[in-house]
Amino acid sequence: MEQTLILIKPDGVQRGLIGEILSRFETVGLKLIALKMVHAAHEDVDQHYALTEEWMQAVYTKAKTKYDALGQPFPYADHIAYGTEIKNGLVEFLKSAPIVAMVLEGEQAVSLVRKLVGATEPASSAPGTIRGDLSHDTYALSNSQNRPLRNLIHASGTVAEAKQEIPVWFTDTELYKYEHVNDRVQYDPEWFLS
Ligand code: ADP
Repeated sequence: MEQTLILIKPDGVQRGLIGEILSRFETVGLKLIALKMVHAAHEDVDQHYALTEEWMQAVYTKAKTKYDALGQPFPYADHIAYGTEIKNGLVEFLKSAPIVAMVLEGEQAVSLVRKLVGATEPASSAPGTIRGDLSHDTYALSNSQNRPLRNLIHASGTVAEAKQEIPVWFTDTELYKYEHVNDRVQYDPEWFLS
């Protein structure tokens, strides 16, 4: 069964949205196997957001696509400078105040959680998603204020990413094993056999 890492960022904690966010994951049927509030150290956040060329290019392209769609000039020429600035801002943001880290487990949990979380820019996130329903920040505002998007939540993007991210925040013994109702009702092939 897949596992995925979620961080509720300082804006989610300070807006009192921990319960609301957690309930969306519980309601969809995912199993919570680890949970903690942490005021993160620089090294943890730095390690969590690996500054790869691929990530910088993706961050740059996502933002530029939105500016293009609005017919607005994108004021940054260089994905490395742009990506590095965003990563540095993110590290400062995530270590500035307590966050909540959790691990969820379930069938295709990584993509399921990404679907529930929504697009990176809250104003473009679909209604029904966590970011779309609970936040409305934009690239334009966050870039003009030189800060990362306040989009409430981080969720692992791929299974490989989840495997790298979970040990940054949890030891093996902090990942709990217990019986959840969905271990039977959702996943046990014999549960409904008489
Ligand atoms: P996601 O969190 O949706 O997976 P990314 O991995 O691309 O998004 O980016 C990580 C975080 O960096 C985002 O959640 C957001 O807080 C911030 N961020 C990304 N791109 C930008 C941007 N162009 N401007 C401001 N903040 C950004």
